[in-house]
Amino acid sequence: MTKAQPDLIVVGAGLTGLTIAERVASELGKSVLIYETRNHIGGNAFSYFEPKSGIEIHKYGTHVFHTANEKVFEYVSGFTKFNNFQHKVLSNHKGTLFNFPINLNTLNSFFDLSMDENEAKTFLESLKENPGGRAENLEDKAKQLVGRVLYEAFIKGYSQKQWQEDPKNLPSTIINRIPVRFNSDSRYFDDIHQGLPLDGYGSWFESMAANKKITILLETDYFDIKKDLSPDIPIVYTGPIDRYFDYKHGLLGWRTLDFEHEALPIDSFQSAAVVNYPDLDVAFTRIHEFKKLYPERRISNGATHIMREYSRAAEREDDPFYPMNRGIDREILSKYKNEKVGNTIFAGRLGSYKYMDMDVAIAAALTLYRNTIIPLLT
Ligand SMILES: Cc1cc2nc3c(=O)[nH]c(=O)nc-3n(C[C@H](O)[C@H](O)[C@H](O)COP(=O)(O)OP(=O)(O)OC[C@H]3O[C@@H](n4cnc5c(N)ncnc54)[C@H](O)[C@@H]3O)c2cc1C
Repeated sequence: MTKAQPDLIVVGAGLTGLTIAERVASELGKSVLIYETRNHIGGNAFSYFEPKSGIEIHKYGTHVFHTANEKVFEYVSGFTKFNNFQHKVLSNHKGTLFNFPINLNTLNSFFDLSMDENEAKTFLESLKENPGGRAENLEDKAKQLVGRVLYEAFIKGYSQKQWQEDPKNLPSTIINRIPVRFNSDSRYFDDIHQGLPLDGYGSWFESMAANKKITILLETDYFDIKKDLSPDIPIVYTGPIDRYFDYKHGLLGWRTLDFEHEALPIDSFQSAAVVNYPDLDVAFTRIHEFKKLYPERRISNGATHIMREYSRAAEREDDPFYPMNRGIDREILSKYKNEKVGNTIFAGRLGSYKYMDMDVAIAAALTLYRNTIIPLLT
C-alpha cells in the first residue's frame, strides 16, 4: 500500500480500468491506484513486438479496433492514431478460401454461379429450412437462417470446435442472426472507424496511463492485498465477478483459447490476417498472421509469425475469454448481482460477465465514470 491513500482503487488494467483511471486522474485530478495480476497493462488487447522480426503479436488473439460511436472514437483519438486497416476474414473449407462472413462472392464461388444481388437474395431464401418455424437448437436455427449446405460448410464444424459440443445439443439462442451480404463487401466489420493503433497497442495504453496521478502495480492480485486496504476507498473491480465472491454460488461458464505460435522464415503464410478453419478434420479454429494487420509497416524481411487458435471450456485457472451464458450461468450471475458489495463497483467484460468489443467496453466505462464515479468522488 502506498502511504498516501488513493482516491480510487481500480482492479484490472484492461481498457475498462484504464478508461476509468484516465478520466478520474485527468478530469477530476484525483489519484488512482490500479492493481493488475498480469505483468502488463491493456488486458486482453495487449500486444508486444517480437524482437527479432519486429512483428507486433497480439498475445490474446487478433484485436482490431472498430466503432461507429463518435464519442468513443474522439476519446481514443486523444491517445492514438489508427492505420485504417479494413479487417477481411477468409474461411478455408476443404482447402478453398471463401469470403467470410458470407457475401455475394462466397455464394457465387461456393455454388459455382454468377448471381447478381437480387438473384442471390432469392437463392438464399430457397436454401432456408423451416423459415419462421421453431428452432430447437443451434443447428435448426442456422439451417433456418442459411440452409443446410452453407451451415455444414461454414458453421457446423466451427461451432462444434468452439463449444466442443454437437450444435444439435447447443441452444438456438447462441445465434440470433448469421450475417449475409448480397454485395461483394468482404469487410468483417462495417463500422465507419476501424484500424490498428499506428504505434502499437502498448503505446496507446501507456498514453492512457501516463497521468502522474495514476499508479499501477503489476503482478499484484487484488485478493492478495485486499485485507490491507482501507474499507473507505471506493473500488472499481474489473476481474471475474464469481471470483470476487469466492465462487460461493458456483463458477460461471467461460470458453478459453489455447494459442500455438510459430515463427516462419517466409514473407507470407496466408492471404489474410485471420483465416477460419470450419472443417472438423482440422483441430484449430483459426490462424492469425499478425503482420497482415499492418500493411503500412511493409515488413517483408523473410519473416512472419502465425498463431493457431484452439477453443475449449475454461477451467478455474484458465483465462476466461467468452462467456458461455447458459441458463445455469444466468442463474448464478443473478445470485452474485444480488449480493451486497459496499463501495465496490463491478465493471468490464469479466465484472459484468458480458462479451464486449473494445469500443463497447470504453463506452460503458465512460458512462460509469459520468453517472457513478463523478458523484462518488466529488
Ligand atoms: C479472443 C478475443 C478477441 C477479441 N478481439 C477483439 C477485436 O478484434 N476487437 C474488439 O474491439 N474487441 C475484441 N475483443 C474484446 C476486448 O478484448 C475487450 O473489449 C476488452 O478486453 C475489455 O476490456 P476489460 O478491461 O473489460 O477486460 P480485460 O481486457 O479482460 O481486462 C481485465 C483485467 O483485469 C485483470 N484482473 C482480473 N482479476 C484481477 C485481480 N484479482 N487482481 C488484479 N487484476 C485482475 C486481468 O488480468 C485483466 O488484465 C476480443 C476479446 C477476446 C477474448
